[in-house]
Amino acid sequence: MSTRLPGNWHPRAEVPPTGPVVLLDLDGVIADAEHRQRFLHQDEPDWTGFYAGVGADGVIAAGRALAGAVDGGLAVLILTGRVDDVSSATRAWLEENRIRWDMLICRPAQEDDEARHAVDYKRDEIAQLRRLGYEPALAADDNRKIVAMYEQEGIPTLYVPSGYYDNSNRYDGGV
Ligand SMILES: [Mg+2]
Repeated sequence: MSTRLPGNWHPRAEVPPTGPVVLLDLDGVIADAEHRQRFLHQDEPDWTGFYAGVGADGVIAAGRALAGAVDGGLAVLILTGRVDDVSSATRAWLEENRIRWDMLICRPAQEDDEARHAVDYKRDEIAQLRRLGYEPALAADDNRKIVAMYEQEGIPTLYVPSGYYDNSNRYDGGV
């Protein structure tokens, strides 16, 4: 296929072949971002502080196992609400922690953090994936609103309870 991928799509090596793919969220599913949640638990979310700590995230063993268990014939796409500014740090983290992944998709850099809700961002990325011939066969996310969106899109989805969304006072745009 064309190698002219959107700028916020980062293949690990080769561009994944079109056809069935698996979509895995990162924060709260594979990366333990608990230590950074406090930056969002305030009146004005501190996005700089929130993203500055991504390299220090621990690994959620179940998420790493899930990525590793995906059929070798299916590409693992990490679809995260993280801004594209931290794509390089995120790629390094995925490698350092031996996560199986084939392509990382981050929130486009030109978007303001809160310009669109995470649900709308991920819905748009799914549409773009489908336009280019990718067929999401399974997804996993820790945000119930995103799980509901995936279900509306007809994608079987695993809900992973991270607890990051259980405080109703916090920003729920989510990553
Ligand atoms: Mg998440």
